Amino acid sequence: MARSVLVTGGNRGIGLAIARAFQAAGDNVAVTHRGSGAPEGLLGVRCDVTDTEQVTAAFDEVEAAHGRVEVLVANAGITDDGLLLRMDDEQFGRVIDANLAGSYRVAKRAASSMLRLRRGRIVFISSVVGLSGGAGQANYAASKAGLVGLARSIARELGSRSITANVVAPGFVTTDMTDVLEEDRKKEILGQIPLGRFASTDEVAGTVQWLASDAAAYVTGAVIPVDGGLGMGH
Ligand code: NDP
Repeated sequence: MARSVLVTGGNRGIGLAIARAFQAAGDNVAVTHRGSGAPEGLLGVRCDVTDTEQVTAAFDEVEAAHGRVEVLVANAGITDDGLLLRMDDEQFGRVIDANLAGSYRVAKRAASSMLRLRRGRIVFISSVVGLSGGAGQANYAASKAGLVGLARSIARELGSRSITANVVAPGFVTTDMTDVLEEDRKKEILGQIPLGRFASTDEVAGTVQWLASDAAAYVTGAVIPVDGGLGMGH
């Protein structure tokens, strides 16, 4: 039976590839956007994940159309890089609010539906940087590391109701977020990746889809790297 799937930030980039993968498998897929609208064939709901009321309204809209959300992919995220001594509190807080607190907000709302369904899958999109750290990315790395504790707490709280919570930690993926990197920096990063290339968005989507599949029913609290070997050892 088609499931109700919601992907935050599913209007572009990795989120869109994830949404398309679920759609191709026959699920009913909704994506959040912040004004761009949704690509053809996907239900778009306007939602900024930093605003609890917008999160509630978005879920209500999705559930009126597709039924209770059974698969949540918390993918929306931003970077706002800067070295520690030059970072201001607002810059630090903004990234934590979008990436970590935003994921908490959507997971909390999703959990109430999943508890009623007595099943559910929550997948958080973290980053290799959350595990290894990144110079100039204290805010981003902290937000992405926080997702691991968030997921594992949810895994413990809700496991008895057949709800799983897992983390996917991509390395470098070709999207708008990495397009802004200088060529020299890209070369330097490529030299550290055993597979010698960036990931495609579809390669991240495949792992997310697997985590939401029957084959992964016994996987919870896991952190799965999709990073070409960049973070080996974490
Ligand atoms: P993009 O910059 O291409 O897209 C980011 C998405 O997040 C957009 O849909 C954007 O919406 C949405 N978004 C940002 N802030 C908010 C917010 N406050 N409320 C709702 N939606 C928001 O990023 P990617 O596709 O590259 O990244 C997706 C996820 O994967 C992020 O969490 C990122 O940290 C993570 N990631 C990316 C990697 C990469 O190499 N690209 C590597 C590792 C992790 P809008 O269109 O409205 O701006």
